[in-house]
Amino acid sequence: MKVEARVKDVVSKVYDGEIPTATDIRHLLKIEPHSLEAGFILSAADNLNRIASQNQAEVHAQIGINCAPCSRNCSFCAFAARNKVFQDCPELGFETALHMARKSQTNAHNF
Ligand code: SF4
Repeated sequence: MKVEARVKDVVSKVYDGEIPTATDIRHLLKIEPHSLEAGFILSAADNLNRIASQNQAEVHAQIGINCAPCSRNCSFCAFAARNKVFQDCPELGFETALHMARKSQTNAHNF
């Protein structure tokens, strides 16, 4: 198995500091998500990310004060009504939100 030459060229250009062209990006967006090429791109992206961040990471906390199912229904999103992750989400009260924020701060999360 071989990774498509054009994909390798685009990734190589990115490693050299070039920004992919609109044509390159359109080509990449047509790649099947479970293909060898997609795996190659994801691996390169992870590697570039680690280089840029010097292998450091931050842990962020996010408190959903008034989350609710979203009628836009983007298939990848946990908030999409069709995914049924959030079906009944009453608004958090002030004390609950404050407690959660303090707990996250104690656990060294960033906001
Ligand atoms: S990404 Fe999620 S929250 Fe945003 S519009 Fe799509 S379904 Fe709604």
